[in-house]
Amino acid sequence: MDYKIAVIKGDGIGPEIIDQAIKILNKIGEKYNHNFQYIEALAGGAAIDKTGSPLPEETLEICRKTDALLFGAVGGPKWDKLKGTEKPEQGLLKLRKKLGLYANLRPAVMFEELKDACPLRADLVKGGLDILIVRELTGGIYFGKKTTMGDKAIDQMEYSKYEIERIAHKAFQIAQRRNKKLVSVDKANVLETSRLWRRTFKEIAKEYPDVELSHMYVDNAAMQLVTNPKQFDVIATENMFGDILSDEASVITGSIGLLPSAALGVNYGMYEPIHGSAPDIAGQGKANPIATILSAAMMLKYSFNLQKESEIIENAVKKALSLGYRTTDIAKNGEQTVSTKEMGDIVTELIGQ
Ligand code: NAD
Repeated sequence: MDYKIAVIKGDGIGPEIIDQAIKILNKIGEKYNHNFQYIEALAGGAAIDKTGSPLPEETLEICRKTDALLFGAVGGPKWDKLKGTEKPEQGLLKLRKKLGLYANLRPAVMFEELKDACPLRADLVKGGLDILIVRELTGGIYFGKKTTMGDKAIDQMEYSKYEIERIAHKAFQIAQRRNKKLVSVDKANVLETSRLWRRTFKEIAKEYPDVELSHMYVDNAAMQLVTNPKQFDVIATENMFGDILSDEASVITGSIGLLPSAALGVNYGMYEPIHGSAPDIAGQGKANPIATILSAAMMLKYSFNLQKESEIIENAVKKALSLGYRTTDIAKNGEQTVSTKEMGDIVTELIGQ
């Protein structure tokens, strides 16, 4: 079958890591008879340099003509002096908003082979971790009205019922495909938006009787993630709580170079590593491409419904790690390392076996 993929390599390590993911998709295509077509587009600093805008209209047009978007990372010191609204990162925020990508999926998976990198006590993560955070991405305080009046500043937090309903459906459907356990995180003891959130989740739960829904306050969830992380399977939460909790969950797993993410809308998905453009290591072959490779695997699962092919990539990554291949970020002192390209080649080869 034919699949059209928009590709935004971006800045810093973006081009290096995306090249590895494409190599892997090509291998999957060759082996399982899929035709992946790539259409490159610009965003972030590279787009500012070429067009003056962090998100040119042409990029949106390309996205609208494709089935999914594979995204590297944007930003870097070169553009630090620009005003907030002109910065490369604005391209990313706008992209999510314009494409209606309201559900952010952030898996936090701890690979058994890298358990030494986990900052928690070994008994708390025995047998590994596999948590999926579903974060609402286009509402809440980040998108509310912002006002500064002299010494006073206001950020407004708003949620409409329909925004909560659609993310709740997504979270329940994902929980159905996993262990059928969903924890909805809010601050319903204090915030009106959270009370609406909790009411709505309870209502939607009636449509998914096979999923066990529970509720947790965000402050408690932040503690539980480090004291008893294995209790969690799928966590659903609003934009800002999700931003903080998903970073906390990712740090438990060891390296940000390993974690993928997806941003889903009604008919479109964008897939990207959770890390940034890492300007400190750009162009040196030191970047870990695994987060981007696993983002491509998520694309196969969530946008193209190619479950088997997605798992083949995940298993090849696990195999590469269990065989002892390490990029610098996940290598212990004195351990031999492989470059970005070498890690891509190894995973490609393992898929071919
Ligand atoms: P960062 O994630 O780029 O880097 C943080 C640290 O992690 C650095 O030491 C970096 O070398 C390391 N790191 C990140 N990815 C790695 C990988 N794949 N392999 C090995 N090591 C890796 O965060 P930062 O330094 O705060 O931000 C750098 C730039 O990226 C900034 O301009 C920031 O705004 C931007 N940024 C972009 C995105 C995005 O495009 N989605 C997200 C976060 C930050």
